[in-house]
Amino acid sequence: MKRIELKSYGKINLSLDVKGLREDGMHLVEMVMQQILLCDDIAMEWNPEKGKELQINLSTNRRYLPTDERNLAYKAALEMREFCREKSRPLPEGKLDIHIKKRIPVAAGLAGGSGNGAAVLHGLNVLWELDLDVEGLCTIGKRLGSDVPFCIMGQAAENENLKERFRDDPLACHCALATGTGTELKPLPPLRSHVVLSKPPVGVSTAGVYKGIDSVEIKERPDTVEMIRGLSEKDRTLVKKNMVNVLENFTLKEYPTVVYTKNKMQELCGRDSVLMSGSGPTVFALTDSRDEAKSVCRKMKEDNRESYWTRTTC
Ligand code: ATP
Repeated sequence: MKRIELKSYGKINLSLDVKGLREDGMHLVEMVMQQILLCDDIAMEWNPEKGKELQINLSTNRRYLPTDERNLAYKAALEMREFCREKSRPLPEGKLDIHIKKRIPVAAGLAGGSGNGAAVLHGLNVLWELDLDVEGLCTIGKRLGSDVPFCIMGQAAENENLKERFRDDPLACHCALATGTGTELKPLPPLRSHVVLSKPPVGVSTAGVYKGIDSVEIKERPDTVEMIRGLSEKDRTLVKKNMVNVLENFTLKEYPTVVYTKNKMQELCGRDSVLMSGSGPTVFALTDSRDEAKSVCRKMKEDNRESYWTRTTC
């Protein structure tokens, strides 16, 4: 029996631009993604047994989450087996137990599910002794979802029990520029900051937001070059000035509660420090200290139970 425990970190988008629409309906994006410390815990146990077809048992602390192939963590295990088949490697035989302890809000724009998928790929890379590097894992991760490769890169850099394995891997990082459909990634210098997250009590479908974004007027776009300059020069003011997410044009129009959350956070933290993450509905604020993050979080909890203080990883 072999065991591994991994942390599946969340992310925020410091900027997000939609650059076009592909013929297959996928949008082309340009976004800066930053890992945060808020995480789910993934525990995996592998009991190999010759002649026994792969059996996956998944459990979570959230009753409403699926525990079959609709769960990205389960799907990740199937993709990893598929990879073995395609590469004519020995097929894994035995029982795989996965337990997910969720803390990251679900369907929130924080890549919670994508992170869980990424963690299972990392875990099986170790348990099944596949010896893939970050690029190899990202190639498999892309099939699961467009945020999965970034989560793989971040987990390689931040997980205590993966750090040594990926110490010299050029793709292990905490912050990256994502282009194409979000899976072409270039590491960037990370932002060091305390963060408050506040999720209004609505579920937002990522697919629905991307479908809707083509029919709304986009008033402001991020200047990604300036955002990257801000990160490179550790110029916090420049980073904040360029925090723009074009998906707000759709999500804020559809969900007044997200507008309310953003306005309240801006009153507490300043206009430039606040942005919606991904397709929403979570809104985040960058704060100058942990005490400020805690105090803002307390006030946000009056409206949104799912409010957290955390920090970026770097
Ligand atoms: P992303 O889509 O980038 O992963 P998100 O924060 O917008 O990020 P998720 O938390 O991943 O959204 O959830 C999106 C949907 O995926 C939910 O409706 C949920 O039912 C489904 N899902 C499947 N597996 C998981 C999982 N392990 N954790 C959370 N949600 C999952």
